[in-house]
Amino acid sequence: MVIVLKKDISQSEKENVKSVLTNRSFKLNEVKGEESTILAAVGRLAMDVREVEVLPGVEKVIPISKPYKMASREFKPENTIVEIPNNRGQIIRVGGSRLVSIAGPCAVESREQMMEAAAAVAASGAVMLRGGAYKPRTSPYSFQGLGEEGLKYLKEAGDKYGLPVVTEVVASEYLPVMEANGVDVYQVGARNMQNFELLKRLGALGKPVILKRGLSATIEEWLMSAEYLLSSGTDKVILCERGIRTYEKATRNTLDLSAIPVLRSMTHLPIIVDPSHALGVRDKIPPMALASVAAGADGIIVEVHCHPEQALSDAAQALYPQQFDKIMRDMEALAPVMGKEVAHIRSENKSEPSEKKVEEKSEHKGKARCAFSGKKGAYAEMASEHFFEGKADVIAVDSFDEIFQSVVDGRAEYGMVPIENSTAGSVYNNYDNLTRYEDVSIVGAITLRVEHSLLAVKGATLETIKNVYSHPQAFSQSSNFLNQHKWNLVDAVSTATGAEIVAEKGSVENAAICNARNAAIYGLEVLKEGVENIHNNYTRFVVIAANHVVQANKVQLGTKPNMASFVFSTKNEAGALYNALGIFKKAGLSLNRLESRPIAGKPWSYWFYGDAVLNGNEENPQEYVDSVMNQLRAVAENVRLLGVYSEVK
Ligand code: PEP
Ligand code: MN
Repeated sequence: MVIVLKKDISQSEKENVKSVLTNRSFKLNEVKGEESTILAAVGRLAMDVREVEVLPGVEKVIPISKPYKMASREFKPENTIVEIPNNRGQIIRVGGSRLVSIAGPCAVESREQMMEAAAAVAASGAVMLRGGAYKPRTSPYSFQGLGEEGLKYLKEAGDKYGLPVVTEVVASEYLPVMEANGVDVYQVGARNMQNFELLKRLGALGKPVILKRGLSATIEEWLMSAEYLLSSGTDKVILCERGIRTYEKATRNTLDLSAIPVLRSMTHLPIIVDPSHALGVRDKIPPMALASVAAGADGIIVEVHCHPEQALSDAAQALYPQQFDKIMRDMEALAPVMGKEVAHIRSENKSEPSEKKVEEKSEHKGKARCAFSGKKGAYAEMASEHFFEGKADVIAVDSFDEIFQSVVDGRAEYGMVPIENSTAGSVYNNYDNLTRYEDVSIVGAITLRVEHSLLAVKGATLETIKNVYSHPQAFSQSSNFLNQHKWNLVDAVSTATGAEIVAEKGSVENAAICNARNAAIYGLEVLKEGVENIHNNYTRFVVIAANHVVQANKVQLGTKPNMASFVFSTKNEAGALYNALGIFKKAGLSLNRLESRPIAGKPWSYWFYGDAVLNGNEENPQEYVDSVMNQLRAVAENVRLLGVYSEVK
């Protein structure tokens, strides 16, 4: 059974609950969650749940009927996300909205082979490196792995590219040497899935584990093995479907993709798929890798070798790097269909010269970077300069999505994201990005006045102009002025792009509608200022940053937070939103914006985005908002605090 403890339970009450249960021969496991502390009590003795429910400090008791307890959904309704840090201050999360790819050779064969393989898989987008140092081979005469030497090559190669390493543990006696050599994720192979003594020792280590499905294991047996790991002390278990033995001989094993949706309802644990060992033939692997993603897997683990013909084990199933690269490109295209993103390793802080933007050169070393969408001279660039007051360099990217991607990849510490315009309304794309990118937070905000001017080259007058270049939004915001002339309006990607085009053409026949600051940037003259229809036209930008990232170049932001932003959904029932809003009334927190957006893949369900103004009297604004969010969790679903931050007005 699972015992949910009250938030204010005293230490002596907790001890009492524990002793009542241990006296009845229950084995206890305490799990401290974000919202509550729970005790998982596993035992053979039947006990009336009411006997526990009445104990002081107990909130509720959930009896669990399944043989696997801690692995079950009943025990933990929300998905587990296993977090694996790398050496670039980033945390790779398996089980969230990111798809992970783990790749590398079957076995570590030499230092050169590992370095070459790591370079190839990292370049294609793998986020972890695999390679067996201890190989459980069917024949005792086959290559058995390099042992500790292999662990060293694996780790060195992983470290070079920021990839945590995954390797198989075949016996518990190897755990100390594996730990000493920095193994990040311990793989339990199919043949050892039911080696319970190994599982117990490994679980006690508390490290992330990939538990492969046994060659002929049922899903329930597999979950019982996960239970061994969980009940021995680790909460970081990733299940891996790798094919089961059937009568079919055309493939090495039969990939049981139906296990993914079946497991989803049974367990909260993340699920990845190894199509390499399932298919056994390289050309058959890519379609099944993609099918795994389509079936809802959290990621894939595949074997890649730069010279498969020389591979010492599993040569026939080793993918060529080009094949892996194609899988990764296809996965990028497929991910959004599944409501997910592909995880990436953040680039090293010293921003490699291969980065495509000119601004991203070594001058950024040691200084924070803020990504904005558009060109030099864009309003977002202006917002970044005002917000950071020179403490961050700006990086121009091509789209709103790329701002988010740059921040999670570590190409920029911050992103400047337009969220609402006072005349054009909400920027829906960015509201959606805030939920799609679950690992970013809002760390600041700034509102900027939008003032458009008409710019042209020296010598141009209103009479010489024939074509005007700008973003369609700026045309509509300046329509009263434009309607007085018979000019040809040409759409540009951004207002600053319009200015750039006009400068390039160099003719008195062209003009641009954009901010006056572009005149200095592109060598143009201001022909007329304030051409916008409504002069109090404002855009609100939020500043985003990645969570779980140790920021080397952090900027001290704002003084005392004055805003909080959050998102939640509600059940589709009468009064659900009313109840959620009641929490803010009770807490005396003033909501100044509530925006709803459809939830992707769930017709007629909505995200509600809210902004609340803090009154400045809160002793500790973060703690105060956290407590309001906890109250909200009792009446709403999927509550996520986007940030408590200071807004520059
Ligand atoms: C491996 O990953 O190299 C391996 C031996 O896998 P499995 O245990 O699934 O056969
Ligand atoms: Mn293998």
